[in-house]
Amino acid sequence: MAGGPTAGPRAPVPGDRGANGRVDHHGDTRRTLAPARGGRLQGGSGPRGLLRLALPAKGRLREPAFHLLEDAGLGPEQPGDRALAFPCRNAPVEVLLVRAADIPEYVQDGVVDCGITGIDLVRERGADVHELLTLGFGSCRLEAAVPEESTVATVDDLVGATVATVYPRLTRELLPADVTLVDVTGSVEIAPRLGLADAIVDLVSSGNTLRTNGLRSLGVLLESEAVLVASDDERAAPFASMLRAVVEARRHRYLMLNAPESALPKIAELVAPRVPSVLPLAEPGTVAVHALVPSADVWRLLPELEAAGASSILIVPVERLSA
Ligand code: AMP
Repeated sequence: MAGGPTAGPRAPVPGDRGANGRVDHHGDTRRTLAPARGGRLQGGSGPRGLLRLALPAKGRLREPAFHLLEDAGLGPEQPGDRALAFPCRNAPVEVLLVRAADIPEYVQDGVVDCGITGIDLVRERGADVHELLTLGFGSCRLEAAVPEESTVATVDDLVGATVATVYPRLTRELLPADVTLVDVTGSVEIAPRLGLADAIVDLVSSGNTLRTNGLRSLGVLLESEAVLVASDDERAAPFASMLRAVVEARRHRYLMLNAPESALPKIAELVAPRVPSVLPLAEPGTVAVHALVPSADVWRLLPELEAAGASSILIVPVERLSA
């Protein structure tokens, strides 16, 4: 029996309950109901001024997000299998593990100070947060697709079609055509084969899953990757700078090479817009050249540098890079 009248003097009831000890219509006096969410909740700054950071508790963003904290030198404690929160040894940051899809709203409402999640999830929730920094992992695209045999050629041809998706908001917002949405919670690719929908809108990274399921992409609606979001960018700024130095470093390599002095103009042109450091070598007429180059350009640069006369080429990773 919960919440029923009791004989004799009433036991004191917590201040947030009515005189009968009830807080709701469920007849349970032991527990209060949380207020409906959707506004800016109190909270945020953790105990002792800790910055509260939400990380995905599972899924493909969890490990890379944790490694980013490690590489930034925060010293995150390895959480146990069931841990939902853990501290960092080297920085006043408390990490809370929650569902990636809930992070935009938690940040918006101030339940945490900042969070790492997918751009797709932030936009789908329509969360009012600042996207401070894209993090270089979790890259994927939100794409519209139809069965191979479909006569639909472009997204504009989807007018009046039924579209299955777990991204109803983005689908409505980004599809140029007026469509009927079929809400599903997963296995979206199977929906056309089940006769549930004419087309799908879903996340794609390599495109293999689409092909395996006999689907053809109609195009990209949104590019996504992991992002650092915050409600108050000033408070999160020092933390964002720590992560930015690592993210920028990962996007670059440090290039060292030897070359005849005469090759310098061509080599400087190849590594532009960065201005290289040039050091004289013991052998007259030869120099060492050092420069930062984008990681993505290394495969193209190497043969071109060799052709320009470079030798003893070393490419090494960079640990931190700040402006
Ligand atoms: P998960 O928790 O593993 O379902 O993934 C959560 C987030 O990972 C998504 O919301 C995306 O931001 C990101 N992601 C990256 N690649 C993919 C992909 N191929 N499929 C689904 N999610 C992806």
